[in-house]
Amino acid sequence: MFTINENYLKLPGSYLFSTIAKKVAAYQEAHPDRNVIRLGIGDVTQPLCPAVIEALHRAVDEMGDAATFRGYGPENGYEFLREKMREHDFAARGCDIADDEIFISDGAKSDSGNIQEIFGPNAKVAVCDPVYPVYLDTNVMAGRTGKYNENTGYFDGVIYLPCTQENGFAPVPPEDQVPDLIYICSPNNPTGTALSRQRLQQWVDYANAHGSVIIYDAAYEAYITEPDVPHSIYECSGARTCAIEIRSFSKNAGFTGTRLGATIVPHDLVCRVKTDDGEREIELHSLWLRRHGTKFNGAPYIVQRAGEAVYSPEGQAQTRQQVAYYMRNASYIREHLQAAGYEVFGGVDAPYIWLRTTGGRNSWECFDHFLEDANVVTTPGSGFGPHGEGFIRITAFGTYENTKEAVDRLAELYRRE
Ligand code: PLP
Repeated sequence: MFTINENYLKLPGSYLFSTIAKKVAAYQEAHPDRNVIRLGIGDVTQPLCPAVIEALHRAVDEMGDAATFRGYGPENGYEFLREKMREHDFAARGCDIADDEIFISDGAKSDSGNIQEIFGPNAKVAVCDPVYPVYLDTNVMAGRTGKYNENTGYFDGVIYLPCTQENGFAPVPPEDQVPDLIYICSPNNPTGTALSRQRLQQWVDYANAHGSVIIYDAAYEAYITEPDVPHSIYECSGARTCAIEIRSFSKNAGFTGTRLGATIVPHDLVCRVKTDDGEREIELHSLWLRRHGTKFNGAPYIVQRAGEAVYSPEGQAQTRQQVAYYMRNASYIREHLQAAGYEVFGGVDAPYIWLRTTGGRNSWECFDHFLEDANVVTTPGSGFGPHGEGFIRITAFGTYENTKEAVDRLAELYRRE
């Protein structure tokens, strides 16, 4: 009889977005006349920009001609894209990253979920609380955690890094235990806050001093507005020996349905392993290269051409305009909800606003209150980790008109309370 990976059974059901969908559907069925506005899910709404669409069309035509058709591509991605990423995302920010340290992929979700495979089965993992759930869940699946505790909402054997109002939603390096793998997402989903250069440098210094690896998710870097916030962890000195960075085209260029991302593994990131005749250093780069070559056959050619177009002068101008569009929403949400009396965080370097619940409600009670009394769909903060309890996430990815209407309704709701 076969057996299963019982680590999967440790995972509590992923009820967050399905529960939200069910609640919204039930509400709409009971109140078909109400105009419900959705500021819940973190998906973009603006179409792909013209420079990207033109590149896609050109690449599709190439695929239809025997002279220019492409089959399997280089497993790490086409050089035309890696070169552009190196130049714009790293060299332009003073980061020393080589083309061959960039591995093109089909997105940050797969990479941030798969990267744990190259580490030891007993690696001690640290995650922020609250945070994007993929980092923790994939380590649970891999057997690096104990059981889930229903009462605390925590897995045994995991180091949680609370992101609270007291620490400015910036995780602090733990002193009592040393993690092997540290997942950091900045700007963070769901809190919408980002680590300052000094805070991130602190993490890099900690990782180098303790022999930890930082897995840095930069999916929202395009939304950073403050000069003191790094766009890449490689802006910090010493990051090449302790950090892997994961990037996405989903939020900066609207590729959530098109799929493109990248993972950066510097050659300087090494692990000492025991051998028959002593010890030797193994580059994590060689492991990720092996994993990529064995389990991945490359992102589609046409999508990589679309990604290349993001870096053209037109692509840069057009995608920046989209980011600015969402950030105008973020400012509207932040400013108007604050003026109405809500306590709001985030929304300056990220398309998410993190709002404290009102009237002593917990996250789900506040979600229901906003849905029923303002017809606005949000996301309960508790769905992202125990320290998300008492908060609500609002996304800036809607249309400006809907965002404005939703915010005006929430402001009115607060005044009536
Ligand atoms: N990382 C974070 C922090 C996210 O919030 C998301 C999506 O919401 C992703 C990664 C997924 O990115 P991708 O679409 O490139 O898989």
